[in-house]
Amino acid sequence: MDYYSKSVNKLIEELTRLPGLGVKTAQRLAFHIINMPEDHVNSIAGAMVNARNSVKFCKECFTITDQELCPICSNPKRTHDQIMVVEETKDLVAYERTGQYNGVYHVLHGVVNPQLGITPADIKMKELIKRLEGDVQEVIIATGSTTEGEATAMILSKFIKPTGIRVTRIASGVPVGGELEYVDEVTLMRAFDGRIDM
Ligand code: ZN
Repeated sequence: MDYYSKSVNKLIEELTRLPGLGVKTAQRLAFHIINMPEDHVNSIAGAMVNARNSVKFCKECFTITDQELCPICSNPKRTHDQIMVVEETKDLVAYERTGQYNGVYHVLHGVVNPQLGITPADIKMKELIKRLEGDVQEVIIATGSTTEGEATAMILSKFIKPTGIRVTRIASGVPVGGELEYVDEVTLMRAFDGRIDM
């Protein structure tokens, strides 16, 4: 079914790798791109390559940073034996904005989602389990209250509990299906303070 040139087909195929982009949207974008001025296209492509090449993940918590260790992990004043597990770096930012949490984080970069074929191996879960070999008192699971967020919390709890480390889940003050980054700071802190043992 080669209706388009090879290069356009290739572009459509590559675009469908992006999350939420089906073939139809990819086609629409591809046709938009081939009609754009060349320097705009170069600029977009360049920004993508540059961002990808310059981004680093903290070797401890896997948040996005430009250092080996992020400013939170390298701060001796933080409580390093308390780890809050979040889905994405933007969730970490939401908790940091409250200014009330003094522990450290672990960024999973996603949640388990069987429908999308995302398994525990696809997120930073084994990296978290590895961290538990150190001195850890509590793991606070702050994944979202979506079905996938809850399922991921259950899987994590099953892995962590046998180690004897305390596992807590943030309270359901966070609206169901609500993404952490949109939740106000007071609600976030209430969810944190009201966390319950799993
Ligand atoms: Zn870090």
